[in-house]
Amino acid sequence: MNDNARFATRAIHAGQQPDPATGAIMTPVYQTATYAQPSPGKFIGEFDYSRSANPTRTALEANLASLEGGRHGLCFGSGCAAMDCVLHQLSPGDHIILCDDVYGGTNRLFHRVYDRHGIKISLVDLTDHDAAAAAFRPETRLMWLETPTNPMLKVIDIAAMAELCRAKGAWLAVDNTFATPVLQAPLSLGADIVCHSSTKYIGGHSDVVGGALLTNDDAIHEKLKFVQNSVGAVPGPMDCFLLLRSTKTIHVRVDRHCQNAGKLAEHLVEHPKFPRVVYPGLDSHPQHAVAKKQMCGFGGMITAEMDGGLDDARRFLERLKIFTIAESLGGVESLIESPAIMTHASVPADQRAKLGITDGLVRFSVGIEDIDDLIGDIEQALG
Ligand SMILES: *Cc1c(COP(=O)(O)O)cnc(C)c1O
Repeated sequence: MNDNARFATRAIHAGQQPDPATGAIMTPVYQTATYAQPSPGKFIGEFDYSRSANPTRTALEANLASLEGGRHGLCFGSGCAAMDCVLHQLSPGDHIILCDDVYGGTNRLFHRVYDRHGIKISLVDLTDHDAAAAAFRPETRLMWLETPTNPMLKVIDIAAMAELCRAKGAWLAVDNTFATPVLQAPLSLGADIVCHSSTKYIGGHSDVVGGALLTNDDAIHEKLKFVQNSVGAVPGPMDCFLLLRSTKTIHVRVDRHCQNAGKLAEHLVEHPKFPRVVYPGLDSHPQHAVAKKQMCGFGGMITAEMDGGLDDARRFLERLKIFTIAESLGGVESLIESPAIMTHASVPADQRAKLGITDGLVRFSVGIEDIDDLIGDIEQALG
């Protein structure tokens, strides 16, 4: 594979070649903790201990870096462990600008773990450029955002935020979990770090928990790698193998997720039970223009409000037969959940109310089943 290979080719080949020892087409699961040294301090390859590096993980790190258009990749035991590695770069007194609508676990990590260590956090609606610009302080070191956000699917202009951060000397980290590298390339828009929960679309089959950080900046990479090795929240080789298998189909899967979600969003908009449907691909989405500019598809997530509140939402969810009630997202199978009592239950009630995370809100992770069966399932559950 040459360096100019396009996305689909890189998804299948980047970071991997047939095993030089056996010709095995798939990168082996190097289930080993340590590596023989012919003489003290001399290594056969680049490996000495599997917390520091493992060949299956190295292949995955190179593969994910390539998909994000980055020079460097680091993998972690979960998306939260990846975020934690970035937050470990800060010191007491440092200030973070955090987008106001984030994954519940992100909110918990920032507010319940790191603010005890003297990190100051401002929650800001980063779709509002003036509010974003006004949030910087002399001690601001990091802006952290998701786009589209979870669960309200707000779309934040990455290039505009990167420009603000560059002017103020702060890092911009973008959680690209919802968009995936298929649809959005934050590093090319000026982000310093891309973060993933590879549990979601990168894994795509709801069978692995994992995380990753990608960057083009050599100095940032060295700092992150130091913490990755020092803290040790690394994934095992079997999980890395499963993720390498998954990325080979990510472009095909995400394409179908987008098609199905687009059709379902249009169907829900017509339905009187759903007075509010949020999907970045709809003309009615407040940041539809930004989504069109920075994404090449609108993703597989839809958020909608049911008119009967929590009771109606609960009844609807319980009656679904193909959609499964579950946390998480991004797998081939369709999932549905109630953010107020599931994924975002750890977000304080007043913040939930401010963001519009009402009791009647439901979040669809639209899978890649037949779309007519998915729509039929929703109709029978409402009927
Ligand atoms: C799930 C998720 C995370 C956390 O990842 P884990 O793999 O569950 O630790 C972070 N960000 C987003 C957007 C997520 O959906």
